Amino acid sequence: MGYSVAIDGPAGAGKSTIAKLVAKEKEFIYVDTGAMYRAMAIHFLRCGIKADDSEKISAAVNDVNVTISYVNGEQQVFLNGENVTGMLRTEEVGNMASASSVNGDVRKKLVELQRKLAASACVVMDGRDIGTVVLPNADVKVYLTASVEVRAQRRYKELIEKGQEADLEKIKKDIEERDYRDMNRDISPLRQAEDAILVDSSNMTIEENARAIIELIDKNQAESCVIGSAKAIANAFVNEK
Ligand code: C5P
Repeated sequence: MGYSVAIDGPAGAGKSTIAKLVAKEKEFIYVDTGAMYRAMAIHFLRCGIKADDSEKISAAVNDVNVTISYVNGEQQVFLNGENVTGMLRTEEVGNMASASSVNGDVRKKLVELQRKLAASACVVMDGRDIGTVVLPNADVKVYLTASVEVRAQRRYKELIEKGQEADLEKIKKDIEERDYRDMNRDISPLRQAEDAILVDSSNMTIEENARAIIELIDKNQAESCVIGSAKAIANAFVNEK
């Protein structure tokens, strides 16, 4: 089992940017679980399935194979063998991912894939249920959040910088709706794990956030080493007897 860092939090809190920086610094693999829900969403959209048709979504899960690979440290997501990485980040796909992620069959399939990845490498994994459900024994758990206003402003700026049209009020409303759905679904709702450390990114830069999380990992790794060597000493005494 590898070392694992779980970063959960609502949409737009900066999880992926921060998780990527942390993974790079620690030379861990960054696993973006939202991308997996988005890949499944593309399949449902292509099949013309409505977001609230849970029967059709459950049936379609059997036809979907989501796989992950890494090229130069960047996660690539494959949907039935097709690389869909470049298609994941549209509002349409995000909304479908949010709506279809309430489905237990969708979650079961993706949680399995996420646990396999974490078992095979040292990972920084971000999502909504990583510290609570996917990796309840993660070595470090962080709940990263920011106010709705700050998250909406960030998304607005991102779209404007890309030369796209943006409506701040609509973005705010979308974020609030997505938060509500993520936090109030029956299966694996978004919440802070009891042993997760709360980081509010509203008034911190990306670098400050990443640094804070890296410090948590370094402290945890140092403590694990101390515990590890204490155990080794204890075992040595047992063996000497
Ligand atoms: O993080 P991202 O916006 O890419 O995630 C898309 C959607 O997938 C989220 O709105 C959320 O509903 C869902 N999701 C989830 N569990 C995760 C990651 C994402 O339910 N671990």
